Amino acid sequence: MTDTVARSARRDFLPYSPPLIGEDEIREVVDTLRSPWITTGPKTKRFEEEFAAALGSPGALALNSCTAAMHVALACLEIGPGDEVITTPLTFAATVNVIEHVGARPVLVDVEPDTLNIDPERVAAAMTPRTRAIMPVHYAGHPVERDTLDALARANQVTMIEDAAHALPARFRGRPIGADANPVAFSFYATKNLTTAEGGMLTGDPEFLDRARVMALHGMSRDAWKRYEKGGSWRYDIVAPGFKYNLTDIASAIGLCQLRKLERFHTRRQEIAAAYTAAFEVDEALEPPVQRAHVDHAWHLYVLRLRPHALRIGRDQFVDELSKRNIGTSVHFIPVHVHPYYRDKYGYARADFPVAYSNFERLLSLPLHPGLTDQDVSDVIDAVLDVVQTHRR
Ligand SMILES: *Cc1c(COP(=O)(O)O)cnc(C)c1O
Repeated sequence: MTDTVARSARRDFLPYSPPLIGEDEIREVVDTLRSPWITTGPKTKRFEEEFAAALGSPGALALNSCTAAMHVALACLEIGPGDEVITTPLTFAATVNVIEHVGARPVLVDVEPDTLNIDPERVAAAMTPRTRAIMPVHYAGHPVERDTLDALARANQVTMIEDAAHALPARFRGRPIGADANPVAFSFYATKNLTTAEGGMLTGDPEFLDRARVMALHGMSRDAWKRYEKGGSWRYDIVAPGFKYNLTDIASAIGLCQLRKLERFHTRRQEIAAAYTAAFEVDEALEPPVQRAHVDHAWHLYVLRLRPHALRIGRDQFVDELSKRNIGTSVHFIPVHVHPYYRDKYGYARADFPVAYSNFERLLSLPLHPGLTDQDVSDVIDAVLDVVQTHRR
């Protein structure tokens, strides 16, 4: 480490996004392990009910990942070969992988330059008679232009499946993401705003979710745990070749505790994001994330963009410099179209989605989680400003 680095560096490494698990989660998991039911059962049912109540969802189905939720939604809509699904290149690969899983064609359209969310005008232009669904991602936790996309979906008689992996809790015009009847997929992966280690939730119309519940458990016509209840029958029918996507009661035990802390977690995320923005918006080398007036941001990610004209270093070196100063960061996301599988299968060039690609090259995600102390936050701010000062053009 050089002297300039040592002066401003914190002593221990600040991880990018550790989970925040308390004694209550531990107690609830142990309680489950001591109970006669450890896989999908009463706690999962309660988790679904409390999650739906928290968001005002018509219904909720707990699954073992957000990926599973999106896959099962596509399968229940019978989307497959010959069909097209419109989504964004600036997402985690799972959003697009599930479209491949059902044999449909992912149609990528570029993002808006400010929010980095899918651009509704480009979605409209990409609609064809083969389009069956739109899969927007609430990037970083900033809601997409939901009303515009919803109207577009209705007008074209296609389904909007929302990838809400980042959007808990987020609101569009005061309405929670996940409160509507279309399928919405949440993630409870270890780094997400609410975690069950691995897990997910599909919200939407209860009748649709009944079908999804069957598809998510082997295509069996009744829940396994009801089968083993007193008076339950051993008999079941396989009505479709379903998946194995159910969430365990061990995971739901964690989720029930996390759900109670969600508002507190969210308030802390908002405070941290506000502190970062106040520190960075005055520096011409830095571009803090935007928040449109009519949305409530979930602040899953704090995506900082660098302004290349003001710096002598690029994003990759900026990340290295922060790491030297003991600040962990990440990059969300390597655009889908530059990954070899998608690049080669569809013949994409980097410039095919110029907004997504040019922003990918200059963005990084700073630590943002409710476990950060005020000292941690000011360490991140100091480190970022120190890197900027050292490498200003
Ligand atoms: C994390 C994430 C997923 C996948 O979530 P899992 O629960 O790990 O399947 C999907 N989409 C986005 C945008 C994500 O960030």
